[in-house]
Amino acid sequence: MQRVAEAHLKLRDYVEAERDRIIESLFEWLRIPSISAHPDRTDDVRRSAQFTAQLLREADLENVEILETQGAPSVYGDWLHAGPDAPTALVYGHHDVQPVDPLDQWMSPPFEPVMVDGECRARGAIDDKGQVLYEIEAVRGLLRTEGSLPVNVKFVVEGEEEVGSPNFEDLLWRESDRLRCDAVVASDTGMWSRHVPSICVGMRGLVAFDIKVRTGTIDLHSGVFGGAVPNPAHVIADLVAALHDDEHRVTLPGFYDDVRALTPEEQASLDALPFDEQKWMASAGVRRLEGEKGRTVLEQTWTRPTCDVVGISVGYTGAGIKTIVPAEGNVKISFRLVPDQEPAKVTESFLAWLEDRVPDGIEVDVRPEGPGVAPALTPVDHPAVGALRRAIGRVWGKEPLFTREGGSGPEEALGRVLEAPVLFLGVGLPGDRFHAPNERMVMDQFWKGLLAAGELWGELARG
Ligand SMILES: [Zn+2]
Repeated sequence: MQRVAEAHLKLRDYVEAERDRIIESLFEWLRIPSISAHPDRTDDVRRSAQFTAQLLREADLENVEILETQGAPSVYGDWLHAGPDAPTALVYGHHDVQPVDPLDQWMSPPFEPVMVDGECRARGAIDDKGQVLYEIEAVRGLLRTEGSLPVNVKFVVEGEEEVGSPNFEDLLWRESDRLRCDAVVASDTGMWSRHVPSICVGMRGLVAFDIKVRTGTIDLHSGVFGGAVPNPAHVIADLVAALHDDEHRVTLPGFYDDVRALTPEEQASLDALPFDEQKWMASAGVRRLEGEKGRTVLEQTWTRPTCDVVGISVGYTGAGIKTIVPAEGNVKISFRLVPDQEPAKVTESFLAWLEDRVPDGIEVDVRPEGPGVAPALTPVDHPAVGALRRAIGRVWGKEPLFTREGGSGPEEALGRVLEAPVLFLGVGLPGDRFHAPNERMVMDQFWKGLLAAGELWGELARG
């Protein structure tokens, strides 16, 4: 305990002494327009990878290497001298950024970082260069002040997270020996608010389908044929209507069977979050709420599986009217999944459900959009979550609450391929404008993130 407190103080001193240099490093990195979505920025993404490698080397990490993929490069580095009995943590983040348009909405140019009112404003400030940098600086600070770390640490910093990590899982399989770890620390997420620190412990998964419905060979005259022939718009509408019951529950047989109940601790933490429904509705731009009966908005969006129609196209939708019975239509349907639902099982159940419902003589062609994404969950009672909780609690001076996120990122693949719990140490705030103009990092959060990263190593070592 004494040693942990000392390390904390030393890291605070380090931050005081190195503050200006760290900010200058951040600015230099943010000036590289590493937009992975733009083919003409390929060189910049590579330059950003090289800069990442340099940061890792300057932090005294070893075996620093650019890991090539079919797309943009990732960067690796490690420090493995904590001894064979010490746990090994793998820090994950990414060095690519989102595109910047609409450019005219930026108050200052996206790749010319500025400090305004304690905020660093630039593309990539929070997502994700800033969050990778405090992880690197925590290692650098401890190695400079203590000469060692209480755990073995590895870094993998991806170069194409913002385009959906198309090559990352391949990289994980290929490098699974090198990346082996006892815990993944993903630094690419946020907190509930500045004064309500929180830890994300789960992400929903996804399966999606593209369904073509064909009732005939050609559009027919509605005056001549209408009333006697099937209409694909009606077939699609019937299917969509049948997906939910009166209480907005999904009707696939057994859909909820594998949903893992929240532990009392996670439920209590969820209930303790200061949630403002009106504000949330305003942020969503809606005037009423719907959803599974008897569940709160946070439950509906974080801990319950859902089904949504993504789009429908059928028949004539141009100006005026056209007197037809259309011959074909299309509907896209997606399901958000929660632990322990399996994409393959839900897919099978949906296909069977469809087959049951489509009348004879109607042709239905279903194409699943990829294999789906499994939901990810780090159990709140996992010892590594306890370590993160203590680390954040000490720095923010408040016990963090548990949250989940709706999206699905490479974190699920990290946990699955490396068979390790994924810890989310993220300091982003709801107002940080991830992916939007005027993205920012609140620097107070940055410095706290740096201290918390340092604390986490000590806590993980204590087990
Ligand atoms: Zn990100």
